[in-house]
Amino acid sequence: MCRALSAGPTVPRGTVGRVAPDETTGRPEEVQLTNLDQPLFDGAQATKRDLVDYLEAVAEPLLAVLRERPLSVMRALRGRRPFMQKNVPRYAPPWLRTVTIWAEASKRDVAYALCDDWPTLLWFANQRAVEYHPGLARIDVPGHPQSDLVLDVDPPAGASFDVVVRSAQLVRQALADAGLAGAVKTSGAKGVHVFVPIAQPATMEEIAAATRALAVRAARLDPELATTEYVVADRGGKVFVDATRAGGASVVAAYSPRIRPGTPVSFPLRWDQLDSVVPADFTIHTVPRLIGAGDPWAAELPDAQPLPGELIEEGRAIPVARVAAMHEGKRRARAQRREAQGE
Ligand code: ATP
Ligand code: MN
Repeated sequence: MCRALSAGPTVPRGTVGRVAPDETTGRPEEVQLTNLDQPLFDGAQATKRDLVDYLEAVAEPLLAVLRERPLSVMRALRGRRPFMQKNVPRYAPPWLRTVTIWAEASKRDVAYALCDDWPTLLWFANQRAVEYHPGLARIDVPGHPQSDLVLDVDPPAGASFDVVVRSAQLVRQALADAGLAGAVKTSGAKGVHVFVPIAQPATMEEIAAATRALAVRAARLDPELATTEYVVADRGGKVFVDATRAGGASVVAAYSPRIRPGTPVSFPLRWDQLDSVVPADFTIHTVPRLIGAGDPWAAELPDAQPLPGELIEEGRAIPVARVAAMHEGKRRARAQRREAQGE
């Protein structure tokens, strides 16, 4: 088993990251690391070696959130725009664990990597996989349940982090009013993510419905500040409380770096820390010192909680944003065509 190998990181100082050999999977003793002194990407203020060193420093808590989840990565190859990779590439080593999942949107099978151990993480680092986006479902649990309910808080263009913080507090209040508790982390980009571990049994449909209800309740607490309007042009410059991170969706992992200036990291925070930080405080250079040997994400995440039935019922009456937006888009396009035809 691959997992028997994950005794912990070894030091990849030179051009070779050493891992333990594995007779059953054919995993080699070394993962070849290349071009470690090159810039990670334009504006990264970090080299590829800095990425490897960072991942080594946070390997334990990061692997804890990647384990047994289908993984997508954002890679930053030199001379190319960063791109999201879901399918493992053909040249992936034979020992890489994968899980094949039917993607309804694109009507095809996707072979996702499972990043359960240090050698796999090291291989991804050498592939210039900077961002790690695990799915919300765990494939080691029967029925692949969604483990967490997620509210994704997105600021409008140009807004300060302050409005994100105030909107996240609305989410916290909506959760508390429903008898629930969540943990918060910066996305590493502009907004924050609130995670609520969900007790089983709970279907993805139930969790998605409860997510919609919570988003609507949060926005209703301060409609001048926050909105659940899916169509950007209709948000009126407000913070978007996104309830669509559900089902087969991914969310960037806690501790994952982002392909953004200064290479910030998605970082867990205590609720009482939120209004004294900005996302740029947490980068691949600052985070190892901040967490030491700890795992603040695991420390902040509350226990798994059952969803109140009334929350699910309330959510079922709220249209799925993407579907509603599609219908509205078609309606507007029809109206425009009619106008153009002078009707
Ligand atoms: P920000 O704080 O800027 O919103 P974010 O990581 O929350 O950063 P979002 O666009 O809000 O970015 O998306 C939330 C999550 O949804 C991402 O972390 C990512 O895992 C997933 N996601 C978003 N867009 C895509 C995409 N095009 N392909 C795959 N996954 C995506
Ligand atoms: Mn977001």
